[in-house]
Amino acid sequence: MAIQWFPGHMHATRKAIKERMKQGIDVVIELIDARLPGSSANPLLASLTDGKPSLKLLNKQDLADPARTQLWLDHYNALPGIRALPLDAGNKAPAKALVAACRELAPLRGGMSKPLRILICGIPNVGKSTLINTLVGKKSAKTGDEPGITKVEQRITLDQDAYLFDTPGMLWPRISIPESGYNLAASGAVGRNALDEEEVALELLDYLRLNYAPLLQARYRLEGSIESLKDDELLEAIGRKRGAVLGGGRVNMQKAAEILMYEFRQGVLGRITLETPEEFKSWAATAAIA
Ligand code: GDP
Repeated sequence: MAIQWFPGHMHATRKAIKERMKQGIDVVIELIDARLPGSSANPLLASLTDGKPSLKLLNKQDLADPARTQLWLDHYNALPGIRALPLDAGNKAPAKALVAACRELAPLRGGMSKPLRILICGIPNVGKSTLINTLVGKKSAKTGDEPGITKVEQRITLDQDAYLFDTPGMLWPRISIPESGYNLAASGAVGRNALDEEEVALELLDYLRLNYAPLLQARYRLEGSIESLKDDELLEAIGRKRGAVLGGGRVNMQKAAEILMYEFRQGVLGRITLETPEEFKSWAATAAIA
């Protein structure tokens, strides 16, 4: 799939992170998407941030499959120097829990002479502005459905002796793994004009058909077994049920794809996670060999 990621953005972000690290950071918060907790993490972040301890926040957990969120929390919490927590960024200020988790990761920091300095990073659309707004308690950062662009660095006071730094620029996701590219596209992390919606919708259906068939059947009132249907037959059936029909009775596949993706992103289909730690590990291994 042809998803473009602009080297200019990567360069600017890398520079901004390096610059901030030089000035001193104790803990790095990486916001990841709970619906794709492997694909939405940046594999280079640990080296960019000099291996500093990291708090992974699995955001949008309200949209994700709770059993799988637990699998991912267990996975990340088993790694050294990493703590992981679920999050719903729009829901009341979670500052206390965040600061407590960060303090555990950097026990030697704290107090007015050695304030805890936290850096927050995340790929576009993961909910960083929403979280910052929630923490600050007012509309200070931009929010929107399209991936964001450069913002000015902000310093947010989380506690008397704990500061959160938001670096301008955006973290790029891992798109060298084909499945990750599709999952990022389905989640909305990739700008709409960088992808073929029908192709992404077909990949999404392929996964949902095998892992979340009852949710699809319930939402689109599909009768019988859908496991045996081909992906395009399934998209066609969904389009027909939802009235995305062209003259001559043909289904408008583009429209059907848009409906499916919109409903997935909004959580209308139900709580869904597009990858387990096991699956992600095997995709990464296959991509590394290819
Ligand atoms: P940013 O690009 O990382 O700053 O992302 P935004 O904060 O602009 O959020 C992108 C979209 O995700 C917006 O439509 C938010 O309302 C939505 N969003 C952010 N956090 C959550 C969450 O925890 N749950 C749900 N359901 N939506 C969220």
